Amino acid sequence: MPISSFHPPTRILLGPGPSDVSPRILEAMSRPTIGHLDPFFVAMMDEMKSLLQYTFQTQNDLTFSVSAPGSAGMETCFVNLLEPGDKAIVCQNGVFGGRMKENVERCGATPIMIQDSWGKPVDPNKLEETLKIHPDTKVVAFVHAETSTGAQSDVKTLVEIAHRYGCLTIVDTVTSLGGSPVKVDEWKIDAIYSGSQKCLSCTPGLSPVSFSPRAVEKIKTRKTKAQSWFLDLGLVSSYWGGIGKRAYHHTAPINALYGLHEALVILQEEGIEQSWARHDRNHQILKVGLEAMGLSFIVDQPYRLPQLNAIKIPEGIEDATVRTQLLQQYGIEIGAGLGDMAGKIWRVGLMGHSANLRNVLIFLGALEKILSDLGAKIEVGAATKAASLKAAA
Ligand SMILES: *Cc1c(COP(=O)(O)O)cnc(C)c1O
Repeated sequence: MPISSFHPPTRILLGPGPSDVSPRILEAMSRPTIGHLDPFFVAMMDEMKSLLQYTFQTQNDLTFSVSAPGSAGMETCFVNLLEPGDKAIVCQNGVFGGRMKENVERCGATPIMIQDSWGKPVDPNKLEETLKIHPDTKVVAFVHAETSTGAQSDVKTLVEIAHRYGCLTIVDTVTSLGGSPVKVDEWKIDAIYSGSQKCLSCTPGLSPVSFSPRAVEKIKTRKTKAQSWFLDLGLVSSYWGGIGKRAYHHTAPINALYGLHEALVILQEEGIEQSWARHDRNHQILKVGLEAMGLSFIVDQPYRLPQLNAIKIPEGIEDATVRTQLLQQYGIEIGAGLGDMAGKIWRVGLMGHSANLRNVLIFLGALEKILSDLGAKIEVGAATKAASLKAAA
């Protein structure tokens, strides 16, 4: 039997990413593939740069999309800003801070770790204390929106502290970009990366990045070559550098970039502030419904991300049973807990195109049915009723 074409099922993606991709984006990706140095493609790359500048709220000239997933955007920041022997402070409050440590080590630099509890934001006081002990630190890195817990940290304050000690900053906004405020210039972030498949709601595999003039200066004056040829910004940036000076570095993922272009056009049409407000509104409606079911969040209100809702699994309910039923009976995907949180929480994403009232109500209805079938003491209908009232208010 020859293998036939692959036809994936249609899902409602309410996990930690990818999120639902708009048919407009999928249609854009099916347009004719052209050469990556074709004048039409080059013009599209220039538009992409200005769309990304809008999305990141920056004038940074070095703003483009790394041709690989968010993890490669992370690596791009570390390999370009760190040299062997440098010290880097990593503030960790979840899974992704741990990956930053790995990156620092692989650059031959020394990580100084600051730990905060999972579910809490990064503590600015601890950063200041650590910088006093290690004034020779070159880079401070942290995650804005920890996807493993749903907690957000105060970027502006952390960057201010790092700058007072002469450090450059690397900020992970894979989950925040497009879903909650990210203001590169106002917050004076030096190096930032994100991902295409979370609140930008594009297909996975691209990583928007942006670098401040200070970061670019550091990259230009490095004493050693970046460890990665592919991610070396000195080389990549000449590819994204603009009309006339564009030199072949690698073949861009042409159709994937059509998709990101369309995703950013959709975001621009909606308006970035309106997108942040939509994420917040749908989170509030979800919250009312979950609370009516007796479920609670692991993150305290002021630090809670609207696009990533980490909720405690009720006593006596088995994690995988619920997720499997959601997927098989309702086509809904939600996320499991990572690391220490495995089996204890669910992660419900309301990211990008997925963040709408229809999905919130379908999910709440499905969850209350499943939990009640499994014997949880909940009043069926209470969650959807509370959420509908909130939505109508
Ligand atoms: C998803 C995610 C990443 C990694 O992105 P990939 O596209 O999966 O490589 C990095 N950091 C955070 C905070 C994320 O949520």
